[in-house]
Amino acid sequence: MAFLFDVERVLYQCECESQYPLCRLYFCRYCISLRCADCTQHEADVYFCPQCLQSLMAPEAKLNHMKCKNCFECPSCQCVLALRAVTAAADSAASSADKSSSSAANKKYYLSCGNCHWSTRDAGYEDQELTELQNSFTDPDQANIKQLKEAYRLISLRDASEEHVRRQTLQSSRRRTMSPFGNKEESKLPSFGLHASPLSRSKRMASVPTSNMLNDVMSVATSSIEPLDDDYFTKPIDLTQVTTLEQRNRDVAAQPTKVMQLRPIKKQLAIKRSIRCKQCDHSLCKPEYSTSNIKFKIQLLAQLQFPEVRIHPGYVLQANSDCPLVLSVSNPDQLNQCSFKLCPDNDNPRGTCSLTTPNDVVFTLEPKNEAFLDNSIETEPDKAKYLSYNHGSKIGLHCSASVPENFTGKVIVCVQLHHTPQQTAADADPKEHIFPISIDLGTVSSAT
Ligand SMILES: [Zn+2]
Ligand SMILES: [Zn+2]
Ligand SMILES: [Zn+2]
Ligand SMILES: [Zn+2]
Repeated sequence: MAFLFDVERVLYQCECESQYPLCRLYFCRYCISLRCADCTQHEADVYFCPQCLQSLMAPEAKLNHMKCKNCFECPSCQCVLALRAVTAAADSAASSADKSSSSAANKKYYLSCGNCHWSTRDAGYEDQELTELQNSFTDPDQANIKQLKEAYRLISLRDASEEHVRRQTLQSSRRRTMSPFGNKEESKLPSFGLHASPLSRSKRMASVPTSNMLNDVMSVATSSIEPLDDDYFTKPIDLTQVTTLEQRNRDVAAQPTKVMQLRPIKKQLAIKRSIRCKQCDHSLCKPEYSTSNIKFKIQLLAQLQFPEVRIHPGYVLQANSDCPLVLSVSNPDQLNQCSFKLCPDNDNPRGTCSLTTPNDVVFTLEPKNEAFLDNSIETEPDKAKYLSYNHGSKIGLHCSASVPENFTGKVIVCVQLHHTPQQTAADADPKEHIFPISIDLGTVSSAT
């Protein structure tokens, strides 16, 4: 089939009027409409490490900055680092009876990359106990960042309190002017302790100066800078000792400039997300909870539910002529029949040329099943003239695009697919739904 990998040629219109290829859309069976990423609600179901497949709850994952505690990536080539164990030489004074226990105690570990052979020994880290090793690659500025976050949290709390006090004062002054006896309620309230009113608590909070909060963590500007070494100007640069831009950007906190400063990077957690229709709140995609299972409980992809329109190769577009072409429509559903009508939508402003299709003829598509793949499908004689072929679940329709004289640019035609799903044989009155599609037929070939 032509344009199998060029999915942007045939675009389907979502309910929000934006256009996407069919493979990027969901089909909500309950609203009977196509849904794009903006028209769906995304929820993270499970946080898990793609390496060790350990799943984490959302608060725990946030606490670990969305990183796995046990898995590390190579800072040089981004492959996963393997844990290697070495047994330190046993103490010569130790007796033979204690040898086995002491060798277990003396087991030290280091991380090594199986791809580029980078190891933590190269970066100057000594072999350590397992827990020590895992904790030794933490960000040195983490404590400072934590302090800053706490300071800014207090500042935002203070700002909110100020606003609250201002609003309360405004309200009480209004009340006082309206009441004939005035308002003495506020002055009687205790200002400290458990029984303090929210207003007095806010007042106390608002009176905390900002400078106190930030003084400890603020960076201070200085004019005294140490002069650079002469080596910077005289020594030739050894590019093998300098990190690449990609290596620096992968470790945003440290941004190492020298190869010796590289350190293992904690593996980023992945999520399994479920997708809901924003309108009816039904699930459109729900993965299995188990991290080792790649299957889905629900998967309403448009590509598996909705008829697909494709362009057949072998047509020639010429200016000032009606160009015949074949559009195929296929039913991806393996269980249910469906019927459709392909009507031209020549008034659509997205189209640049007009199209002619067998617009008043309803065609039926069989389920996509092995049994229907033989070519023995009989077409009704009055419909056969409109068809290029009929493969049961997929039929080719003769259409023609009329290109005006002196036309330049892309030939885009618009159609409306009148789709009638037939869920069951007992479904007496299936409803027809209209889906606008725009098809990019390419550019006009130059006249010969
Ligand atoms: Zn949308
Ligand atoms: Zn892991
Ligand atoms: Zn590596
Ligand atoms: Zn829906």
